[in-house]
Amino acid sequence: MADRTGPRVAVVGGGVFGVTAALHLARAGCAVTLYEQGADLLLGASNVNQRRLHRGYHYPRSPETAREVVEGIRTFVEEYPEAVVADQRHYMAIARTGSLTTAEQYLRFCDEVGLEYREERPSFLRRRSVEVSLRVREYGLDVDTLRRICWRRLRRAGVTVRLRHRVGLTDLRDYDRVTLAAYAGLNHLARGIPGPGDEYQFEVCEKPVVRLPAPYRGTSVVVLDGPFLSVDPLANTDLFLVGNVTHAIHATTVGVLPLVPRGVAGLLDNGVHPPCAHSRFRAFVAAGREFFVGFEQARHDGSMFTVRSVLPNLDRTDARPTLVRRLDERTVSIFSGKIATCVDAARQAVRLVTGDGAPPSALADRAPPRWASGRTATRSGAPT
Ligand SMILES: Cc1cc2nc3c(=O)[nH]c(=O)nc-3n(C[C@H](O)[C@H](O)[C@H](O)COP(=O)(O)OP(=O)(O)OC[C@H]3O[C@@H](n4cnc5c(N)ncnc54)[C@H](O)[C@@H]3O)c2cc1C
Repeated sequence: MADRTGPRVAVVGGGVFGVTAALHLARAGCAVTLYEQGADLLLGASNVNQRRLHRGYHYPRSPETAREVVEGIRTFVEEYPEAVVADQRHYMAIARTGSLTTAEQYLRFCDEVGLEYREERPSFLRRRSVEVSLRVREYGLDVDTLRRICWRRLRRAGVTVRLRHRVGLTDLRDYDRVTLAAYAGLNHLARGIPGPGDEYQFEVCEKPVVRLPAPYRGTSVVVLDGPFLSVDPLANTDLFLVGNVTHAIHATTVGVLPLVPRGVAGLLDNGVHPPCAHSRFRAFVAAGREFFVGFEQARHDGSMFTVRSVLPNLDRTDARPTLVRRLDERTVSIFSGKIATCVDAARQAVRLVTGDGAPPSALADRAPPRWASGRTATRSGAPT
């Protein structure tokens, strides 16, 4: 356990970014209390995602995002090696029609960023629907293992964890420092801090969990770059997660706080719900049949739901930066992009919280651009 003579720090948000920040702050000597409103750690977007430990392949229109995850993945693997799933086959395919990136542009992007690939197509991917299919070096993410490791590491570092506690501004009064890692809930707390509140694009997302025929086993495929889909194995199970850029999103708003359709609100961030009237599973299957042989045999086990929060007006590049910022003298916020960047973000947070020198990397102190409010928005890009 670290010698905790440093400041008393509250970390709000028990997702992978908040947990990792709490760990690093405790190791730096801070007395850390981690607050999570849910019944366990890692039940929000850190659980309801495509379980891909990005290596950059996803972002042909944002080389900055690709480079950020290329840098981040090294520190993530060092911190959480047990949660990295390295024995899956990963493919990236460029759709023949409707893609925002051509095969030629994609190959050039991979070469420029230094991403390895070889041309190869999984047996179930329809040749007529894709211009190119590449076997790539990516990893999967085992979130259940990650959750277990996080608990172990937090205990060892001496972090106090308070679950089922929805933090309000008054809860934070007695702390010397505050780190906000509340993702889609960031503005509920950041709004109380003087200065302009940032706007985000909030997307209420469905993540179906399915069983697929034998040829899919152990195989992850992403069809880029437009309103397409992806399948990823759920670690240590026979199940898969399906992503679709269009059908996964039940509602999109741009503003300070998310708007959630009433029917879906009770389904957010609490695991897999059995098939229900709110699911768009049939639309996922219809879209999948265009690319994947046998996809009509997909059996729906249930769906998970969460609110994704991204910077608005970035559809052109589909960029997903991680932003670590000082909001005031006491408060640092972490707005997460890709999971692979969580250790680098935690290190930046420690620097800003403890005042240990100027932030050296691109992750720190970048203010997001300002936008007009109250719009609804549509999505294009990669299916996560
Ligand atoms: C559908 C989808 C697919 C994705 N796919 C991928 C992928 O394949 N790979 C990848 O790298 N990234 C992916 N992402 C992005 C990634 O999942 C997120 O950026 C990341 O998990 C967010 O982590 P976090 O810790 O910031 O947020 P979260 O995991 O959401 O954690 C924030 C926590 O804060 C808590 N909280 C909020 N407000 C309060 C409060 N007032 N008091 C107490 N607790 C509070 C919430 O309950 C929540 O648990 C995906 C995201 C989505 C939504």
